[in-house]
Amino acid sequence: MKDSRIKVGVLGATGAVGQRFIQLLDGHPWFEVAALTASDRSVGKRYADACKWLLRGGMPPAVAGMVLTPTDPDGIAAGVRLVFSALPGSAAGQVEEALAAAGFAVCSNASAHRMDPDVPLLIPDVNAEHTALIREQQARRGWTSGFIVTNPNCSSTHLVCALKPLYDAFGLQGVSVVTMQAVSGAGYPGVPSMDILDNVVPYIGGEEEKMEAEPQKLLGRFTGERIEMAPFVVSAQANRVAVRNGHLEAVSVRLGRRAALEEVAAAFAGYRGEPQRLGLPSAPDPAIILHTEDDRPQPRLDRLAGRGMATSIGRLRPDPLFDFKFLVLGHNTIRGAAGGALLNAELLNAQGYLG
Ligand code: NAP
Repeated sequence: MKDSRIKVGVLGATGAVGQRFIQLLDGHPWFEVAALTASDRSVGKRYADACKWLLRGGMPPAVAGMVLTPTDPDGIAAGVRLVFSALPGSAAGQVEEALAAAGFAVCSNASAHRMDPDVPLLIPDVNAEHTALIREQQARRGWTSGFIVTNPNCSSTHLVCALKPLYDAFGLQGVSVVTMQAVSGAGYPGVPSMDILDNVVPYIGGEEEKMEAEPQKLLGRFTGERIEMAPFVVSAQANRVAVRNGHLEAVSVRLGRRAALEEVAAAFAGYRGEPQRLGLPSAPDPAIILHTEDDRPQPRLDRLAGRGMATSIGRLRPDPLFDFKFLVLGHNTIRGAAGGALLNAELLNAQGYLG
């Protein structure tokens, strides 16, 4: 029987996030992997020979024999409609534009286009309506069927999944966030073991700037032509810790109006977004898991909640300086990277943008 799934490519398929894409796309009901790209170092090699597979469960047999091609429109197999980009930010900018101009839908993890005024920065649970910006983007850039949609930085993703119910219910004036981020967030081989074992590194280049800018775009309002940034301030401090996967974030919020602790807890626990309403294949349900134990969430115990797609919140309590404080935990390479882009693509398909 003919496979009617949409053919997709993975750019930067050999890296930490590229491998996650391949794992999450294996057996996907809507998408089928038909192209894999990497750097010049790997082009022409079989995927199994070029890639040091890092994930549990082994490399899916369907991709092992595929040959890596160049990351440009001519390198990608005919019939591919959608490409997932796991390219380094430095390589992504021009390549993603060239692919969109050539007619590909690009779902990118990279930071290059996240803050472009005409590119949706998307979390389907948070701002599904921002996909309407795609028509503005195509009109402005003269692209017909191609476009770029991005997902946020891994720490911003889980932070904003947690802020969304609060923003909707009470408004937000200010957010302070201190992160404890896993080593897999730096790709592979990433942070040298001699730097991180027995240690915390109190600096991650570019991370604080992203966390201080992306939430306002994500929670911004689509005016019909552009995104009007949400009017609150974020102060971020980013730290690398000796955890393999799962970013933990200590968050304090000043709300737009007074609220009782029970109201805040109810806003988190009752939150449902567009992916849950649409029943998208990768949507966690619930999207937010509110812990009441004193010592949760923890990376090792809770990062795979909702198959790595859910955001876990715990230790919700009043804050003497702000209004409330709590901990947020989420998987950085699943929901914070490849899974986030995959959910974006599922939303785009459900909304008819991949037709
Ligand atoms: P990574 O492990 O270093 O992998 C990079 C991939 O890109 C490899 O497949 C590499 O191929 C390929 N590549 C490198 N330079 C290239 C070029 N000039 N042209 C074409 N391909 C090139 O990085 P990663 O951690 O997977 O991150 C990928 C992207 O996702 C980055 O933009 C990162 O900021 C973002 N991101 C990562 C995380 C995370 O938790 N890791 C979370 C959110 C977002 P070779 O094997 O041939 O070198």
